[in-house]
Amino acid sequence: MKRSTLITAGLLALASCSSPTGWHFSISGAVALAAPVSPATMDNLWASVQACSGIRTSEPWHRVSWYSVPGDRFAYGPGDSAIGLWVSPHQIYLAAGPLEHGPSTAYSPQYDTLLYESTIRHEMLHDLTQAPGHGPAFTACHLAAGPGVQ
Ligand SMILES: [Zn+2]
Repeated sequence: MKRSTLITAGLLALASCSSPTGWHFSISGAVALAAPVSPATMDNLWASVQACSGIRTSEPWHRVSWYSVPGDRFAYGPGDSAIGLWVSPHQIYLAAGPLEHGPSTAYSPQYDTLLYESTIRHEMLHDLTQAPGHGPAFTACHLAAGPGVQ
């Protein structure tokens, strides 16, 4: 049995989006998470994306199966890597890098938090739109992909 699954990924200029993949999708090293940040923050991020996009759902962010992948980026196909990845219908993979950086790196804690939460919001919006593309909702939410991104 084979079922096409739409995949998309990314964040702003760092984002990347992919083509359909197979039914048995998995990413090496991915670990399931109950929530990537605190449930209260998740509530806020989910509400903010619905507000800016105008796409409402009565379903909670718990409808998504969340996964963390070690490192700043992860590979999800030949030549493709991302910091965030949405897999239809309700899977989101997040690079754990922003949570792994210590104070000696070039990243600041504020930047890491912003990057991580922006990635969560970007992938949440894919889950709300149920599509891999970056349509008007992404522009409205200031979550559109940048140059070089599909
Ligand atoms: Zn995207």
